[in-house]
Amino acid sequence: MPILVMKFGGTSVATLDRIARASKRVAREVANGYDVIVIVSAMSGKTNELVGWVEETSHMYDAREYDAVVSSGEQVTAGLMSLRLQEMDIPARSWQGWQVPVKTTGVHSAARIEDIPPANIMSKFAEGMRVAVVAGFQGIADDGRITTLGRGGSDTTAVAFAAAFGAERCDIYTDVDGVYTTDPRISEKARKLDKIAFEEMLELASLGAKVLQTRSVELAMRYKVKLRVLSSFEEYDPNAGTLVCDEEDIVEQNVVSGVAYQRDEAKMTLLSVADRPGIASAIFTPLAEAGINVDMIVQNISEEGRTDMTFSCPTNQVARAEAAMAEAKEAGNINFHDLVADTEVAKVSVVGIGMRSHTGIAAKMFDVLSKEGVNIKVITTSEIKISVLIERKYMELAVQALHDAFGLEKVG
Ligand code: ADP
Ligand code: ASP
Ligand code: MG
Repeated sequence: MPILVMKFGGTSVATLDRIARASKRVAREVANGYDVIVIVSAMSGKTNELVGWVEETSHMYDAREYDAVVSSGEQVTAGLMSLRLQEMDIPARSWQGWQVPVKTTGVHSAARIEDIPPANIMSKFAEGMRVAVVAGFQGIADDGRITTLGRGGSDTTAVAFAAAFGAERCDIYTDVDGVYTTDPRISEKARKLDKIAFEEMLELASLGAKVLQTRSVELAMRYKVKLRVLSSFEEYDPNAGTLVCDEEDIVEQNVVSGVAYQRDEAKMTLLSVADRPGIASAIFTPLAEAGINVDMIVQNISEEGRTDMTFSCPTNQVARAEAAMAEAKEAGNINFHDLVADTEVAKVSVVGIGMRSHTGIAAKMFDVLSKEGVNIKVITTSEIKISVLIERKYMELAVQALHDAFGLEKVG
């Protein structure tokens, strides 16, 4: 029988009633003739609670134990959904990551899936099981310990299963009815897109649109998984949601397709570092070794052999970045006058494949922000996106102004 992957996020399984509601959707697809692999998240709020418990117990926690704790939320929902389906007379069984097994790297809290051998689940389908309910977000490393895939990782579990099992489609059920031109919780003018190209979705996800985990989009693109995002709350409609697809499959293409934001950014500036060959490496190697996700980098003009180096990273990594820089200074590998952290910034980005063939998008973006009185602190660009760091208090204003200026609003 053809296989369908259906993923339900935290809000879609937040209560027993919602699990029952999601189970009805699964039952419909079983009735349509599919063997279904369901990927579930923890009930909404659960993972945050578990992370909080870990941080309260141990400040510099052991990442293996972090994974042991935070992976548990998904185990509960997988078992509950399997029970609910059984109550509906559908042969279902729950699977934890290690039981499948979902084999991952050993990078705890940020592991990557390496292999999902389909044999175990396929043999159960052959015996008459119709639904495998798999705990998302988790896997097992070579040493036999449980790993997790980073926040939002159940999306990646879902796409990886769709690829491994040759599923007809991977449906991501969430609390919005598709991918929008910007976060519908920030702008009521946000418009749902019927289709979005893989490249654009990849940029939007990596620039903060958490509707899909970045890695899940990468995998879908690489393995040509038919990926759809839709609401678990709306009535059943086979054409609902947003299809993430190849660029060629989109007829009408805007120059700019979406606006994304990342709220919790920090801008770090090393004042007066010696401008010599190897300085960038001396700064960014220890940051990488400390696991800092450095995003933007700017080196200023140098004067008398000294320069300022600015980079951005998530606010919750500032303390670790400072420690890494202090250590490198102590060891005599770098010399700087001061390290200034500005933790009140946010990143706002515009994304669109059309930028490849249109000029003037950056100029228009800067003009819009200046008319709103928003000062730009750092700028980066790529072929299909422009990002700026601005003061956090202007973030929503900037998102809305850019959304308006690039004509993304709802029509009619
Ligand atoms: P789930 O728990 O189902 O995985 P998430 O909270 O991870 O759901 O992702 C869905 C959320 O992503 C939405 O509630 C929405 O606020 C947010 N979001 C951000 N940007 C976008 C966008 N461009 N389109 C749709 N949703 C977005
Ligand atoms: N429960 C995990 C999280 O909240 C994984 C997921 O929902 O995708 O990050
Ligand atoms: Mg999510």
